[in-house]
Amino acid sequence: DHFRYRPELLEGMPDDILRCMKQFEDWFTIDADQLKKITNHFVQELEKGLTVEGGSIPMIVSWIMGYPTGHERGRILTIDMGGTNLRVCDVCLAKGKGDFEQAQRKFKLPAEVKSGTAEQLWDFVADRLDAFINEHYSKDQIKGPLPLAFTFSFPVDQKSIRSGILKRWTKNFDVSGVEGHDVVPQLDAALQRKQVPARVVALINDTTGTLIASHYKDKHVKIGSIFSTGCNAAYMEECSAIPKLRGLDLPQDATVIINTEYGAFDNERHFLPRTPFDEQIDAKSIQPGAQIYEKMVAGLYIGEMLRLIMVTLHEQERFFEGQDTTRLRTANTLEAPFLSIAELDISEYLDDMRAEFKETLSLDPSLEELKACRYLIGLIATRAARLYACGVAAICKKKNLRRCHVGVDGSVFNKYSGFKSRAAQALREIMDWPPYELDLIALNAAEDGSGVGAALAAALAMNGKNIPDG
Ligand code: BGC
Ligand code: MG
Repeated sequence: DHFRYRPELLEGMPDDILRCMKQFEDWFTIDADQLKKITNHFVQELEKGLTVEGGSIPMIVSWIMGYPTGHERGRILTIDMGGTNLRVCDVCLAKGKGDFEQAQRKFKLPAEVKSGTAEQLWDFVADRLDAFINEHYSKDQIKGPLPLAFTFSFPVDQKSIRSGILKRWTKNFDVSGVEGHDVVPQLDAALQRKQVPARVVALINDTTGTLIASHYKDKHVKIGSIFSTGCNAAYMEECSAIPKLRGLDLPQDATVIINTEYGAFDNERHFLPRTPFDEQIDAKSIQPGAQIYEKMVAGLYIGEMLRLIMVTLHEQERFFEGQDTTRLRTANTLEAPFLSIAELDISEYLDDMRAEFKETLSLDPSLEELKACRYLIGLIATRAARLYACGVAAICKKKNLRRCHVGVDGSVFNKYSGFKSRAAQALREIMDWPPYELDLIALNAAEDGSGVGAALAAALAMNGKNIPDG
């Protein structure tokens, strides 16, 4: 299929370009053997995260001790503060059949809010939630504070399902006064100050919500994963296999959802085959030294990766000679859709790709340059998908899951054509399935995690009590 590398793109190119592309190929290609080694090391790191001493992967205990039964009822508000948007939903867990109705709204998180103060951030959230409640609830539907499930997609230390101390921001968020603090009282205080009739009843990660919602629809789902601005996964673990929970008085067969936060894999920078461009991305990020694995795979970084490579090629006087590269030299100008559009362009003269270069970078490359860039994009995106597969494979190996479904959500997974098939191919190589076998571990589009999933988590947290009717 055309999502594989396309060496034919390089046919007839001058030798120095070919040599240069070969260097990138060496840097970015990760073969089956390496994938297996990375996965095995990944398994050890997941284990380490469950110990008292811990490791670089946080393996956060979510305190959600089981899946919903399908008997959950009631009306719950949810908010999702992701990497890009704030999403607000009104979820009705309905009459016995496990279905639901909902209204939702999305607001783009303005750049100032992502790098301002805690107060600005929570006020922004409180105001949007207030507007949403006014639109969807009548006065007599508000008898007390409405239960609110909060999907907060960052690493937090959880002492209960209703608390979470932010360990540190990821995804280049830079809001002051939140790291080291519990985000639940911070949001509740803003809601109180602005007299918004809602209180947080559950704080969950986006991967946890994805796991819950997807498992609710399909019992074969054992892992919930996000591949978007950031990258992460959650799964259900035996409490007896979590040394850091020892000493707690839990039933023998207790289980709990673990939000792995495995974007932090290899923060020691010992194991992953990093390139000089990975080093640059990390060094220039707002949280250098953190989320090393995430920075090699996730949507926030693959555009920047391509940009840095093109800048280098320009500086070496190989590409875009004599052109105005001001926009190319501006950090973070390229986003994942730029790469996706280029890869989808299989026309002879790469017209769509050319239009993107013009529109986003004000560049007018030669056909040869376009083809070389198209080739580089294939390398970057294929590496991302293959490394992504290692995290999923590691959870499967750790849990001895030989056959299961993985609920995956996120803009890159859903919109980047070819991502899914590349990741699936890498899984086949890691797991050594015979060629005639169908995918035993299937990456499927997830159900709505931050709406339905979060509402179900809230219902579990409230144990069926005090939930208003739908
Ligand atoms: C965050 C995770 C989140 C992931 C996907 C990462 O940067 O640390 O909490 O699940 O992004 O949104
Ligand atoms: Mg999200």
